[in-house]
Amino acid sequence: MKKHNFSAGPCILPEEVFKEASQAILDYNNSGLSVIEISHRSKDFVDIMEEARSLALELLGLEGKGYKALFLQGGASTQFLMVAYNLLQNKAGYINTGSWSDKAIKEAKLFGDVIELASSKDANFNYIPKGYEVPEDLDYVHCTSNNTIFGTQIKDFPKSNAPLICDMSSDIFSRQMDFSKFSLIYAGAQKNMGPAGTTLVVIKEDILGKINRQIPSMLDYQVHLGKASMFNTPPVFAVYTSMLTLRWLKKLGGLATIEELNEKKANLIYSEIDVNPLFKGFAAKEDRSVMNATFTLVNEDLKETFDAMWKEAGINGVNGHRSVGGYRASMYNAMTIESVAALVDVMGDLERKA
Ligand SMILES: *Cc1c(COP(=O)(O)O)cnc(C)c1O
Repeated sequence: MKKHNFSAGPCILPEEVFKEASQAILDYNNSGLSVIEISHRSKDFVDIMEEARSLALELLGLEGKGYKALFLQGGASTQFLMVAYNLLQNKAGYINTGSWSDKAIKEAKLFGDVIELASSKDANFNYIPKGYEVPEDLDYVHCTSNNTIFGTQIKDFPKSNAPLICDMSSDIFSRQMDFSKFSLIYAGAQKNMGPAGTTLVVIKEDILGKINRQIPSMLDYQVHLGKASMFNTPPVFAVYTSMLTLRWLKKLGGLATIEELNEKKANLIYSEIDVNPLFKGFAAKEDRSVMNATFTLVNEDLKETFDAMWKEAGINGVNGHRSVGGYRASMYNAMTIESVAALVDVMGDLERKA
């Protein structure tokens, strides 16, 4: 039986995407060929890449606004350095909201001055810093919209005249927003869009070409843009499967529909965390993530019992990250409210039993 998979990433995908992707591995569109053995220069694959690129812009409401989408390799971790390589001439500002921001800062420091505009390190990143100053003389401002490990999410983004760059790996396509306030958005596919192996980068083209260092081709956004995201062999299966997920999302009603569903799922689990005396939430209430709910047991002695109960209920992947401990329920787009209800039932059962 299919498990209720709360894994933080790689994540669950819609059942119909798993089915269609597996069929395409065997025979793509009755062509007698697998999607992973056709030429990436064939019309079939170029059409897949172009549909993926245009669906990404369409779902974010960025069509016709000077943006282009790329499907690159190397994960969000490579974007930590590509952003700085392509855009950091003198000084950039970073908001430090957790391990991923911290890693992005470390890479950027290789290319120029980096100032931490704000940080929530003082409280093990359990909140989103607010009310900080953003200087005028920055090349860009970088933030992480959703902190996968700590379960916090930015609701109000930094305001700046400099280009705003955002790592949206774990909440891309999960909520409505005016995405045109960002000049560059990146996201590893494996949290909310597809399998591991590709990274979506959405760039406002006019921010590029302003620095005077040489950039190796594979790390140069302009090279990838010039080749329509086909500079070298793209990760064909990851792009194809991401495209199927984006199609699914569009058919469902896009970001408005998924946002409503995601909020229902989050409300369901946070209400249980708040009323059940055996559990305690990790993140500050106003900054709680709609994607990853982090919580701990008040009494650690119940751990063995609780762990056995959720496993018995067909639940997978709710162990917390080692830097937070406890539990983390990741409820990405493809997760159904029934799966969240299954976990909430187990939490309620534990209270009745204990
Ligand atoms: C998982 C994650 C990353 C790292 O992604 P990779 O694709 O594994 O490099 C970066 N940022 C955030 C917010 C993440 O959740």
